[in-house]
Amino acid sequence: MQVFDNIKDLRDLLHTYRLEGKSVGFVPTMGALHPGHAELIRQSSRTNDVTVVSIFVNPTQFNVQSDFEKYPRHLEVDIEIAANNGASLVFAPSALEMYPEGFRTFIEPGASADPMEGANRPGHFRGVATIVVKLLNIVQPDNAYFGTKDFQQLAVIRETVSHLNMPFAIHGVPTVREADGLALSSRNVRLSSDARSQAPIIYQALKTTQKAFAQGERNRTKLEHLAADGLNKAALCRVEYVSVCDATTLASTDVVTEDSVLCVAVWFDDVRLIDNIELSNQR
Ligand code: AMP
Repeated sequence: MQVFDNIKDLRDLLHTYRLEGKSVGFVPTMGALHPGHAELIRQSSRTNDVTVVSIFVNPTQFNVQSDFEKYPRHLEVDIEIAANNGASLVFAPSALEMYPEGFRTFIEPGASADPMEGANRPGHFRGVATIVVKLLNIVQPDNAYFGTKDFQQLAVIRETVSHLNMPFAIHGVPTVREADGLALSSRNVRLSSDARSQAPIIYQALKTTQKAFAQGERNRTKLEHLAADGLNKAALCRVEYVSVCDATTLASTDVVTEDSVLCVAVWFDDVRLIDNIELSNQR
């Protein structure tokens, strides 16, 4: 497996692969790879001849500088995990390679970026949309893979790619969880042992709400209250938002349908976690 930190060399190699008729899959990440990322890489390598994994902690999507600084970084381990799960190439550029001196061209995402993460983390999706468009333009994959763990991010990327007429197929991969239901996240390592033992409450609250939906509850406010009450059972859990919204537009609609998704963001001490569940999907 080859590791590149430079756009031109990566492009030159991908160009030769394309001339050979090879299909290219792409998994963008910020590193600190865990089995959730590994699942994306495996899905890509099952379907494509070549899988590129990017590892780049993108400064423009952090609205809080200390969060960017605290983000875990261990490139050598990540390269090994990528290789073991079928990656052919790792692209790990410097900040200067991605944002050269004088850079000021940004993507302003559409309405799917407005609520929830967009409302609580100003500028976050502008940074996400910008880096994802840049990476997609560099790699030009046939297929790109994103986790539904970051449900709104995936919706924003789908909308951006559609609005900008980018010809890459975007695939959503279901959330990989710990045995107790906690969604895998690079931030989980920062949970205290007390917080870690209470954090499975998130998935329990999501499942309880999904069950109420399966039993016929269609009142958005009632479903949101049910989820919030479940989350508040954990003493250390502070709810930032609970939203039942449309899975494509992310708009909060009074009519809850088979296409509705429940998204939550919570804090355990200074660690912010997000999770979601599609109400009609019994997985
Ligand atoms: P990140 O490095 O956190 O930006 O994530 C890179 C990709 O991995 C994104 O598409 C995430 O949605 C996805 N991802 C993160 N956690 C998980 C998980 N637990 N299961 C599946 N995919 C995930």
